[in-house]
Amino acid sequence: MTRLIFLGPPGAGKGTQAQTLAEHLNIPHISTGEILRQAMKEQTHLGIKAQAYVDSGELVPDQLVEDLVQERLSQPDAKNGWILDGFPRKVTQAAFLEKLLEAIHQGGERVVNLDAPDEIVIARLLARGRKDDTEEVIRRRLEVYRAETAPLIDYYGDRKKLLTVNGNQSQEDVTGELQKVIAS
Ligand code: AMP
Repeated sequence: MTRLIFLGPPGAGKGTQAQTLAEHLNIPHISTGEILRQAMKEQTHLGIKAQAYVDSGELVPDQLVEDLVQERLSQPDAKNGWILDGFPRKVTQAAFLEKLLEAIHQGGERVVNLDAPDEIVIARLLARGRKDDTEEVIRRRLEVYRAETAPLIDYYGDRKKLLTVNGNQSQEDVTGELQKVIAS
């Protein structure tokens, strides 16, 4: 049973690696950013509420992402494991997740910290060219990452759940290191 949380700065390759690994393990890849972008595209209630935050690189309010994660982890396919990508993104969300997993009997999760230096992630994000990948919004997302999300490295380190993978290498090498680390 594999339950993994992917941590790391925007542009570290979390999405690509999480997707590859999820396919390999045949478990759902749950990306809160993807779910929000889809909701924005469809202009659902959730999408309309999230739009201004996502477009400016701010975090959407906890309640919105917590509700969607709770709903998604309650789906039948999440019983066989999952990879969470982009959630939790702050300590309050991590505390919420801890309680949720206990309540739905889905413990034993581990956390992969996919690390890469700023100049690498900025270059990758600029090359990607998503709507929220303008220079100004990228800068804001990195600030938000440092202030809100990076503290989760210690949070999960203290709980002995943290695994670290060097994101500053080729996609194939990251995949290889990742598979080694989670098998250990
Ligand atoms: P991502 O695709 O993970 O880079 O997420 C894109 C954007 O979605 C972020 O910049 C946030 O605005 C929003 N978002 C995704 N996940 C979360 C989360 N766990 N908490 C708050 N906002 C989120």
